[in-house]
Amino acid sequence: MCSIIPVHLIQKHSYLINLGLLFCLSVRWGAAQSRFLCSSSPEESKSRPSMLRHLTTKLKATGPITVAEYMREVLTNPVTGYYVRNNMLGPDGDFITSPEISQIFGELLGVWIISEWMGAGRPKQLQLVELGPGKGSLAGDVLRVLSQLRSVLGEASVSLHLVEVSPALSLLQAQNLTRSCSQEADSEDEPVYRRGETAAGLPVSWYRRLDDVPAGFSIFVAHEFFDALPIHKFQRTQKGWREVMVDIDPDKPDKLRFVVAPSPTLASSTLVQADERRDHVEVCAEGGVIVQQLSKRITEEGGAALIADYGHDGTKTDTFRGFKGHQLHDVLSSPGSADLTADVDFSYLRRMAGGGVACLGPVSQRTFLKNMGIDTRMQVLLRSCVDPTTRKQLISSYDMLTNPIKMGERFHFFSLLHHSRLAKPKKTEGLKLDKKKSPAPLPVAGFTDEKIWQ
Ligand code: SAH
Repeated sequence: MCSIIPVHLIQKHSYLINLGLLFCLSVRWGAAQSRFLCSSSPEESKSRPSMLRHLTTKLKATGPITVAEYMREVLTNPVTGYYVRNNMLGPDGDFITSPEISQIFGELLGVWIISEWMGAGRPKQLQLVELGPGKGSLAGDVLRVLSQLRSVLGEASVSLHLVEVSPALSLLQAQNLTRSCSQEADSEDEPVYRRGETAAGLPVSWYRRLDDVPAGFSIFVAHEFFDALPIHKFQRTQKGWREVMVDIDPDKPDKLRFVVAPSPTLASSTLVQADERRDHVEVCAEGGVIVQQLSKRITEEGGAALIADYGHDGTKTDTFRGFKGHQLHDVLSSPGSADLTADVDFSYLRRMAGGGVACLGPVSQRTFLKNMGIDTRMQVLLRSCVDPTTRKQLISSYDMLTNPIKMGERFHFFSLLHHSRLAKPKKTEGLKLDKKKSPAPLPVAGFTDEKIWQ
């Protein structure tokens, strides 16, 4: 039997493993099959206004629009947006994400959340905030770990806050997290547009924007959220940087095409770095604003943010692409029917976070999950699992998450932390310390041995 070890006595890696071994959860099978939202019927699709018609009308009235505006309209338009009305996640959808592949992913993030809460001195209140929760699977797996480790959390009051733009997905999240016990707000102006309670009695609230989440010590999680935010695209030309825009193809009026703005736009004059060396750049200004908000909140209220996504460190150029039915899809063809995405530029997020917080990573998903003890967790699950099909599924999902040529190296983890979290702890009474050496700060789970930007 494992016992809980006081945090100040815990060594670098061992305490994570101890936390990991404390919860003995069963394998979440069957869930994968039942987690699909029903697609809408052909009749429903016919009666919906067409996104292409909406865009061509707009383009005729205003002229070319930025790629960011195109992406925003296509993904989050309140009536016809891709996220607002589609069931995109899972084998029957357009793409599959790590939390949908294996419960271990969310469980390890749950352990990370608890270890950061402990590292922050166990505040009495813990707001768990997820940006873009999809089907709610990640939050569900995290909550299960939190409830298994309730004794570690002690008297801390835990609440769940979900930032979700899609009413349809919020309903699905509510079904999964609150057993359908949730209520919509009476008015559209309410910052909390849905409320509910988990089976364990934890309050859950839904917001359209991060701004609406109440202040307080919070741990923020964003998995495959930043890649869905609108990007601006810029092209180096002989006349300087120019913004890439979307226009109607003059030869085919029901088709869209990319054009390069003839003169600088506000975005091309302000968003490209003066020392930029690439010839083509994508900048997610909206992602930058959200990171600034996270940074401000963490500085003022304490807490941490964990951002996981596919991305690069300011090296890639053209990464804008579409996904439909797990296949690459032309970003300008049948808008609204496919997911649009771009790699996250972590160097940009780090720049936007500013000096108010410490940034860790990006580290590869493989490194992060291995540092978090995925191998030990797998052994525990395999030991308790005799069914050959389930064992096979466990092993193949582990491979999908960690294999360098699958998701292991493509996805990265990046974190924002309060500076105090990395400060050297004060000498503890009764603890014999070498006077010449000052004690090292408690390691940040998953990022151990990584360079720290402060
Ligand atoms: N995190 C989930 C889902 C990823 S898909 C997973 O890993 O499985 C992206 C999610 O972000 C969806 O829930 C989508 O509706 C939401 N989303 C996209 N753009 C958003 C925005 N601007 N504001 C809030 N939520 C957004």
